[in-house]
Amino acid sequence: PYDVLIVGGGPAGAASAIYTARKGLRVGVVAERFGGQVLDTMGIENFISVPYTEGPKLAAQLESHVKDNDVDIMNLQRAEKLIPAKHEGGLHEVELANGARLKAKTIILSTGARWRQMGVPGEDEYRNKGVAYCPHCDGPLFKGKRVAVIGGGNSGVEAAIDLAGIVAHVTLIEFDSELRADAVLQRKLASLPNVKIITSALTTEVKGNGEKVTGMAYKNREDGSQHDIELEGIFVQIGLVPNTEWLKDAIALTPRGEIEIDARGETSQPGIFAAGDATTVPYKQIVIAMGAGSTAALSAFDYLIRLPAE
Ligand code: FAD
Repeated sequence: PYDVLIVGGGPAGAASAIYTARKGLRVGVVAERFGGQVLDTMGIENFISVPYTEGPKLAAQLESHVKDNDVDIMNLQRAEKLIPAKHEGGLHEVELANGARLKAKTIILSTGARWRQMGVPGEDEYRNKGVAYCPHCDGPLFKGKRVAVIGGGNSGVEAAIDLAGIVAHVTLIEFDSELRADAVLQRKLASLPNVKIITSALTTEVKGNGEKVTGMAYKNREDGSQHDIELEGIFVQIGLVPNTEWLKDAIALTPRGEIEIDARGETSQPGIFAAGDATTVPYKQIVIAMGAGSTAALSAFDYLIRLPAE
């Protein structure tokens, strides 16, 4: 069996792998797509100490850094079931889609999350060319420009407030007849001079010139009228969904599906840890996922040294 089996090969999983391998532990990493969300990112300007890098480059460096260590990488493999140990100190099991069963003394879950997409024409085509999902990451790229934020929940309204301080103008688009964000956030938003709020609006299209976003179209859900907005950026904030559907019978998840962890990264099951975007960690960012992966790794090590000798 592995000492540590890591499920997920994004920044969190890579950090966990390096930290645990450097303790001399027997480590395996199962990843559906090694690199994770970083593979879908273009410019990265907040990876501290590296002023600028690009997603595919960082993903390749994550993989080569992990491979410098003694780690079994099982790439292009999806985990489908987690069976926690029956008794404390026992072996946990992970079942893969290909039928294989892996056993481990500790598990680190780092399966990340995915942004819910609008599913309208132009959204995929202009991803990273004006369509963005992360205001902390891409907000500064739109300095002085006009943007829309899609979604009037807490994350959408927070994004609109954040962006209003950077860009020229923000249009917040909400599908419902009213915003769903907390009242304090709504009051803050309403006080900003360069924000327009449009409710009962269904986004129908992302428009562009072949190279980048030039606008968007929406339908007024009350009278059916069609409208166009000219702008350079669209931040989609309709939900970040953790990749944890396969875990719901095994460990405690929040109603939103995030893995509940404590300050040490431990889940509701002893010996099973978690890190990164799949968890309750506040803020979902590369450096945060790496820090959390390191925390979970050191906690797994701490757990292992307390197991009775075999
Ligand atoms: P992920 O990167 O999501 O990795 C999850 C891993 O788990 C992947 O390897 C995946 O294949 C695997 N996996 C999932 N389910 C399973 C399963 N059942 N079995 C096996 N493997 C599985 N952050 C920044 O700090 N700066 C930025 O500029 C930035 N830009 C971004 C731009 C875009 C377009 C996106 C989408 C995100 C961006 N982020 C940015 C956020 C950042 O990418 C994430 O916070 C970070 O990647 C989270 O790392 P993670 O390891 O927790 O999860």
